[in-house]
Amino acid sequence: MRRIGQNFLVDRDVLSRIADYAELNPGDSVLEIGAGTGNLTEVLSRRAGRVYAVEVDGGLAAGLKGRFANVKVIDGDALKVELPDYNKVVSNLPYQISSKITYRLLSKPFDLAVLMYQKEFAKKLIAAPGTEDYGRLSMVTGHYARAEILEYVSRTAFRPNPRVGSAIVRLRPRSDRLSVNHESFMRLAAGLFSHRRKKLGPALEAMGVSREEFAELDGFILDHRAEEIDSEMAAWLSEKLYSI
Ligand code: SAM
Repeated sequence: MRRIGQNFLVDRDVLSRIADYAELNPGDSVLEIGAGTGNLTEVLSRRAGRVYAVEVDGGLAAGLKGRFANVKVIDGDALKVELPDYNKVVSNLPYQISSKITYRLLSKPFDLAVLMYQKEFAKKLIAAPGTEDYGRLSMVTGHYARAEILEYVSRTAFRPNPRVGSAIVRLRPRSDRLSVNHESFMRLAAGLFSHRRKKLGPALEAMGVSREEFAELDGFILDHRAEEIDSEMAAWLSEKLYSI
């Protein structure tokens, strides 16, 4: 079942540390994406007040129902189901939906997220402008949250062993971010990185923004390549360009 990322986390110490990182308490409502056989769900249900466990595999979802009093199983695709109200997200994610689910989670309010990703993906999440790993994902994540890699996890912690390495990431929402229109900001980030090596002026032109629209931008900003634009500058640009 590699197609839907069914590598179950069986290392009890790692499971426990994930819950520790999430600083869980009985006041928390936790969203878990891809509950699988319930290894992590069980730990979460012991430490949080409420757990919403989303699972796309009907057989696995059925196996979870009724097992834990404070767990509500949501049968379906985490990219499509209506998400409940939660304040934390704790998941060993199905890696094939990493980008889409991250963007979905970032577009909604939360207090803290502790998520297992493929190692290379985690490095992109935390990458700084101007580095090889910096891209659309880093720009968008950097706008909404402070992301940190907490630890790398060995392939042997999972059954069956995945072919890729893993990393646990914590996301804390930024309270100091500019307020942006999410869709516009996503479009700008995608556009900038389809022209990552161009300077900002030509990149914006290639994205269909007219010269008049960006004429008033500071020459200093226009001199940067798209891949050097940090999330603060991108947020500012997004509001500037889409509000005129
Ligand atoms: N949480 C379990 C654990 O740690 O052992 C399972 C993690 S496993 C890496 C990912 C789980 O996500 C699998 O059970 C898979 O069926 C489920 N899954 C895959 N795609 C999904 C989707 N789009 N929505 C919800 N669950 C999904």
